[in-house]
Amino acid sequence: MELLDDSVVPERARDVKREAREFADEYIAPNAESYYESGEYPWEVLEAGMDAGLVAQDIGEEYGGKGFDLAQVLAIAEEFYRADAGIALTLQLASFGAEMVEDYGTEEQKEEYLRPVAENDQISGLAVSEPQTGSDLAGMTTKAEKVEGGYELTGEKYWVGNAVEADWLTVYAKTGESDDRYSNYTLFIVETDSDGYEAEHIPEKMGMRASKQGHIVFDDCFVPEENVVGSEGGGFYVLADFFNHGRVIVGGHGLGLAAAAIEEAEAFIDEREAFGRTIDDFQAVQHTISDMRIGFESARALNWRACEKVANNEDAGYWAALAKTKSTEVATDCAEKGMKLHGGRSILTDRRIARVYRDVRIPVIYEGANDIQRNLIYRQSR
Ligand SMILES: Cc1cc2nc3c(=O)[nH]c(=O)nc-3n(C[C@H](O)[C@H](O)[C@H](O)COP(=O)(O)OP(=O)(O)OC[C@H]3O[C@@H](n4cnc5c(N)ncnc54)[C@H](O)[C@@H]3O)c2cc1C
Repeated sequence: MELLDDSVVPERARDVKREAREFADEYIAPNAESYYESGEYPWEVLEAGMDAGLVAQDIGEEYGGKGFDLAQVLAIAEEFYRADAGIALTLQLASFGAEMVEDYGTEEQKEEYLRPVAENDQISGLAVSEPQTGSDLAGMTTKAEKVEGGYELTGEKYWVGNAVEADWLTVYAKTGESDDRYSNYTLFIVETDSDGYEAEHIPEKMGMRASKQGHIVFDDCFVPEENVVGSEGGGFYVLADFFNHGRVIVGGHGLGLAAAAIEEAEAFIDEREAFGRTIDDFQAVQHTISDMRIGFESARALNWRACEKVANNEDAGYWAALAKTKSTEVATDCAEKGMKLHGGRSILTDRRIARVYRDVRIPVIYEGANDIQRNLIYRQSR
């Protein structure tokens, strides 16, 4: 039975889901293995995704995009991640952080920075995490010091998607020393060719090798005043709102990966023989598949419910954290079970199940580690 069926997907997101499946079958899945092996940035697939109108199109029509809503981006995420998580992350990060410029930026910022991303002439990224902390958003130390005409950034950022490839980033930096630690941060648009901006790729990862993250060093990097996004000191709250949307999408990363693990396991058990029969004949194997599907369907129902809640801004932080945690952990569980069913063949590095197994370790971390999500779920449910 089809795993990513569209009965749970709102009507308005079904066409784009179909387009994403066709694109993923033609461009992502066939290239997954070679990009994993080479560890190169998948420029060609990214450009094909742009031509297909599936990249950076969450930006509104008035700024050159298609205005995809949360459900449409989630539908694309499920399909892309089913095909390959590394390439999918690159395609989905091409406008990362730009959404905040759309929601909180000035008209000048939107024309200068948002439009080229929506029109696929530029790519963006979001720089929040640092070498010494990723989880504590109010503990980041990169400083933005007020100088004539703007700010000077000093400090380091780590794990930043597209830090080397992007044209500009939304950067989260400290502008205050107030006792209210949540009001000390501000967001800035920083062009990556600015003086004082240096970025290099971080060491190679075990999974999602077709996506690239970087280590940035800001050394008195000047940012003009007009590049402040929203208000000074408002960065933490803007980011928290942005992450609610992002976490629903990351849930979709988990769902796509879980679907891949289940498909791969089901195909394998139909073929593999042991004790004179195919292993799908053993009840223990059947139960393992059933458990994978129970987890998957529960996570998917929750994730799509959370999508609706977050889109309507109803207890968004709570629902986003539930969805992100459940879907990404179901993915790790399905990958583990899929590996077991593959026996010795599971550990052959070129197997799709092995690739999924490596990749599922990542969405449980990014967009806020799942322990942090559990903190949020508890706090926001009380
Ligand atoms: C592939 C990838 C892409 C990424 N892309 C980006 C990006 O584009 N931009 C960006 O800014 N960042 C990005 N990140 C960074 C990511 O958001 C952080 O890795 C994540 O927030 C966790 O931060 P950390 O790695 O510093 O872990 P730490 O904060 O050091 O936490 C380590 C562990 O400690 C535990 N822990 C910490 N605090 C608590 C707590 N309060 N309660 C309970 N347990 C706790 C958790 O188990 C946690 O996993 C990316 C990361 C990866 C792996």
